[in-house]
Amino acid sequence: MITLSEYAPIVGQEVIDQLERLAEGLGPARFVHVNSTYTGGGVAEILHRAVPLLNQLGLETAWHVIEGDPFFFETTKSMHNGLQGFKVELTRKMWEHYLEVNRANARKFDWEADFVLIHDPQPAFLINELRPRAAHWIWRCHIDVSRPHLPVWRLLRDIVNQYDSSVFSMPQFAQNLPHPQYIIHPSIDPLSDKNRELTDAEIQGVLNRLGIEKDKPIIIQVSRFDSFKDPLGVIQAFRMVRRHTPCQLILAGGRATDDPEGDRILAEVQEAAAGEPDIHILMLPPDAHYEINALQRASDIIVQKSTREGFGLTVTEAMWKGKPVIGGAVGGIVIQLQDYQTGFLVHSPEGCAFRIRYLLHRPEMARRMGQLAKEFVRNHFLITRHLRDYLTLLTIVRSPEGRVFEF
Ligand code: UDP
Repeated sequence: MITLSEYAPIVGQEVIDQLERLAEGLGPARFVHVNSTYTGGGVAEILHRAVPLLNQLGLETAWHVIEGDPFFFETTKSMHNGLQGFKVELTRKMWEHYLEVNRANARKFDWEADFVLIHDPQPAFLINELRPRAAHWIWRCHIDVSRPHLPVWRLLRDIVNQYDSSVFSMPQFAQNLPHPQYIIHPSIDPLSDKNRELTDAEIQGVLNRLGIEKDKPIIIQVSRFDSFKDPLGVIQAFRMVRRHTPCQLILAGGRATDDPEGDRILAEVQEAAAGEPDIHILMLPPDAHYEINALQRASDIIVQKSTREGFGLTVTEAMWKGKPVIGGAVGGIVIQLQDYQTGFLVHSPEGCAFRIRYLLHRPEMARRMGQLAKEFVRNHFLITRHLRDYLTLLTIVRSPEGRVFEF
């Protein structure tokens, strides 16, 4: 198990001391997280790392996952798409089923807590059934709700209104709600298999196993096969670059158990890449953290051409590896990539192709951009900062009005 003190060489001992002080000030507390999958996607990625560390800090922290059938996950994926702006229709049958699956899960849960943090819309209705089980209910929204399809948001809002507070990843996602809203950026763990340093031999070993030769520059996008991640736009951009400059593209992705659309999008991607030997589509198992780490480190440019994005942990992971990143100018990506400094923001496949070519021809600039990116992540998006935000949030929501805080 990784201990908190192992982060000191990366973030400084004073950061660890502050976490311990905050945890001590908060006192004994039970903290429950609920989401809808153990594997796949950024939420599970964060919880796997944050839950053990919060326990180390003395907070009794548990993580529960709701169960659902395929119709439930089709419904919640439609909700997700609607909240990110697609004009989806949620039928009465879908909505009733969503509520019923939440009720069924509520009957199985036997926890009690001081604080419960419900991640995203899938388990949001639990509050309706389990309210007395926790003193404070927080809804944590990880998705890009800057321009939601209103009929979907209105349905969810009636549930979210019941919460004591909510947390969004950036101010642009905040909503008109009757309770306090907090902004907390997600984070990555620099000591996880996904992000820890690797030797050249380890990286080469993964490339050999996956059949990738490093004979031309590598451009990669790591993402679930999801239309908001725009893999087809990445292929389009790559084909434009390839006309002039030799390079290869890796699209690496896997399945999330709460995302039923992956296979359809993957089939579209395979069709779009057909006949192009320099496009490698890698379907990776959910625990391929080490392989993704190696692939990111082996790459020359990392792309995240999303059209909507809650935050984009793949961007953070790439920046931490000192890579130049080109990202869609949406959602949380814009907090991470500052044009010409920590990365490039783009608005179209053409823009993406232009920036790929630009960086391929300017290796020194790519290197400097990667260095700046890494320091930016060190200062803002590592898990220690995230733990600090959670401890601060819990301290605030537990305190009587009028208290003066000193952190
Ligand atoms: N990821 C993974 N395997 C995959 C695709 C993604 O482990 O095949 C990881 C990726 O490295 C990142 C997370 O899943 O840590 C995705 O988080 P992000 O915020 O980028 O997107 P989300 O999937 O949550 O929309």
